[in-house]
Amino acid sequence: MTNPFWETKTLEEMNDAEWEAVCDGCAKCCLHKFIDDDSSDDAQPTDVLYEGEQVHYTSIVCTLLNTKRCECSQYEKRTELVPDCVKLTKENLKDIFFMPPSCSYRRLYEGRGLPAWHPLLNKGKKSAMHSKGMSVRGKTVDEADVSLEDAEDYIALWPLEDID
Ligand code: SF4
Ligand code: SF4
Repeated sequence: MTNPFWETKTLEEMNDAEWEAVCDGCAKCCLHKFIDDDSSDDAQPTDVLYEGEQVHYTSIVCTLLNTKRCECSQYEKRTELVPDCVKLTKENLKDIFFMPPSCSYRRLYEGRGLPAWHPLLNKGKKSAMHSKGMSVRGKTVDEADVSLEDAEDYIALWPLEDID
């Protein structure tokens, strides 16, 4: 039996369909996050990560996310409608450290393989991921319902959790 592509190819070697299939669909990348460092009182929007700075995830989610299915409701037009929507590509892999530890791209990039709950290991279904609590389902607040100035009140640790 041949090994699956995610065990034999690097991310750079994958074709477009394989690359897309690696995404577990957790939607944690649709959460608002910001970076801060100890020397500043002001939290800044995430752009560049310097040494000593930390990425904070919040439970505030993009209003275009279907939070039950954990799918973007405007996938084709997302970068047009939401300029901050960052899609991970082979070209911006250096930004992978903004992704949560459980992000399947980050896991492969760091040599940790795919987790047992990944849809690729569950007949393409997301139910194992949801039941293990590894997606955003049931944990978010819509950005339309909060002031982003209060983002620090919504800092969440659950997006940083990862299980094999
Ligand atoms: S965090 Fe990673 S694996 Fe999860 S939806 Fe975003 S890109 Fe896909
Ligand atoms: S536009 Fe879609 S993919 Fe981008 S952050 Fe919003 S819900 Fe997620």
